Amino acid sequence: MAVQPAVSTASRTAVVTGGGSGIGLAVAQRLRTDGRTVATIDLKPSSQDDLSYTADVTDRSQVDTALAAIRDRLGPVTILVNAAGLDGFQRFGNITFKDWCKVIDVNLHGVFHTIQAVLPDMVAAQWGRIVNISSSSAHSGQPFMAHYVAAKSAVNGLTKSLALEYGPKGITVNAVPPGFIDTPMLRNAETQGFLGDVEQNIARTPVRRIGKPEDIAAACAFLASDEASYITGQILGVNGGRNT
Ligand code: NAP
Repeated sequence: MAVQPAVSTASRTAVVTGGGSGIGLAVAQRLRTDGRTVATIDLKPSSQDDLSYTADVTDRSQVDTALAAIRDRLGPVTILVNAAGLDGFQRFGNITFKDWCKVIDVNLHGVFHTIQAVLPDMVAAQWGRIVNISSSSAHSGQPFMAHYVAAKSAVNGLTKSLALEYGPKGITVNAVPPGFIDTPMLRNAETQGFLGDVEQNIARTPVRRIGKPEDIAAACAFLASDEASYITGQILGVNGGRNT
């Protein structure tokens, strides 16, 4: 006999942080296409998205306020995709402690806040899906990005620990580390000269193209699905084969 999920698929509400741009935007669009009700959280309001909420993920009170409004309107949140992120390019010796803390704050503490804030909904539902967007740089290391790589590596570790802790409650926790995805963050890094030549990067990428935000969204949609209930604590690289 098939086991019925405690929450019907139709009633699932998802929250995507960083949902106003790049990968988060594509994830929100894809989950909506899949029939989820999706609210986004980002630093800036979106005039085009009626379900966009403004919050800085580093500020717990802002996260709690946004989530309370989302719950009031859309019900309990049982899918969370953490895509909000901030990069940084500096020689290690030039990274001030303030720079270090800022990058760790957004990329790691932001994930802590949103997960802790939505977990009660998932525990009550005995069903949940958390997907953390980390980075392929956590696999390879990346010069001039020590703070960013440290934060993203910690996100992978957090993912594994929470998978063990919350698996018995029907909640899966996975990470998707993107590599070389065509977003405003990547193009900004290119413009500033931190990325090198995009064409040379493509030539070094086994599938010979730049990644699209939709590539990451597809992986997130799968990990957020019922079919992925036996997949947890995994780091699913989506990088065109740049890291294996
Ligand atoms: P993006 O286009 O810059 O999107 C990131 C979004 O997060 C932006 O809308 C940004 O707002 C928002 N954000 C930043 N700080 C925030 C905060 N404190 N609170 C709430 N929202 C905040 O970048 P992306 O490339 O799509 O990145 C998405 C995720 O993928 C990030 O975690 C990034 O580290 C990761 N990633 C991307 C790549 C890639 O190749 N693109 C590779 C590895 C990992 P503002 O624009 O207003 O700052």
